[in-house]
Amino acid sequence: MLPSTIHTFAEDHGLPQYRVNQAVEAVVKKGIQKWSDLSTWSKELREEAERSIPLQTLSVHKILVSSQKNAVKAALKTRDGNIIETVLMQPKPDDAWTTCISSQVGCAMACTFCATGKLGLMRNLSAEEIADQVLFWIQYMHEHNLGERPNNIVYMGMGEPLNNWKEVDESIRLLTSTYGYGDRHISVSTSGIVVMIPKLAKAWPQVNLAISLHAANDDDRSALMPVNRSFNLSKLQDALKQYFEITNRKVFLEYILLDKINDTPKHARDLGKFIEGINKPQLLHVNLIVYNKTKSDYSETPRDHAQQFLNLLKRMGISATIRKNLGRDIAGACGQLAGEKQ
Ligand code: SAH
Ligand code: SF4
Repeated sequence: MLPSTIHTFAEDHGLPQYRVNQAVEAVVKKGIQKWSDLSTWSKELREEAERSIPLQTLSVHKILVSSQKNAVKAALKTRDGNIIETVLMQPKPDDAWTTCISSQVGCAMACTFCATGKLGLMRNLSAEEIADQVLFWIQYMHEHNLGERPNNIVYMGMGEPLNNWKEVDESIRLLTSTYGYGDRHISVSTSGIVVMIPKLAKAWPQVNLAISLHAANDDDRSALMPVNRSFNLSKLQDALKQYFEITNRKVFLEYILLDKINDTPKHARDLGKFIEGINKPQLLHVNLIVYNKTKSDYSETPRDHAQQFLNLLKRMGISATIRKNLGRDIAGACGQLAGEKQ
């Protein structure tokens, strides 16, 4: 749903602005799924809207609910038949929900551990398709009495958001203006497209930034993430320095622990050095992530070993936590999204 579509419809039908506001509010606040549910409009207008303005660009392909009911994964179909994935999760019982959304169909970055990376890039999502994933969860939450809407939005689904900057930028504008989300409730995760990081900082200084690091020496990182061959760790450090100068805000370093690949004491020291090399190390927080097994040769670091890795970081004075992983039984809560159909 784009507010401009409703606006045009209203103009064509000689409706005043408050009719547009009523419609937008019913969509983003009440999660109506059909224009016929728009109770503040006359029956005639609703029927006309139903015929001429689509409310949602995405339709359900498949939904999976985790056994603990704290994570729901949806495979959604775009109008041209592509499948994208989005997740709704509740990190703490009876607390706020977070949604993880996709920015592209597939991804060109080819990270070796990532299921989406194996697909290659099919196409960018439009700003409307990106925001419609959030709309989908608003509708879903109303339908299932889970509350009003997700509290937080993370761009950590399929795709590299900073490779689709124009639409991602526009989608953040939609979510903050039309949907009324606070900038600080939105997070963008990037594999490290360093040239785009200052742009993000200038456009959205209050939006949270996460960097997928996964290794802090160039050889290992290049083996896991081909992006490191173009934008190596030293360039990433420079981009982070610029980011801090503009925003002075905390950045999250995502680090999937892969058994015997990036989880040795030397790797912890590499991470320490990487962080020390940045002007504001206190603004960096490391999220250690438990790997969700996909069709790859990697396996997750055993639990006690992950704890030791965390302790090593803490001893170096690094702020770090092990991220709780929800919905492992529905093939990953977030960041492991692969379109089965593709
Ligand atoms: N392309 C962006 C955003 C999407 S990936 C990026 O790479 O940052 C979101 C996060 O999920 C990244 O940190 C990614 O490395 C991680 N991820 C990918 N596959 C995963 C898996 N199988 N298990 C756990 N995390 C995974
Ligand atoms: Fe793309 Fe992110 Fe997966 Fe890498 S981890 S392939 S950048 S989605």
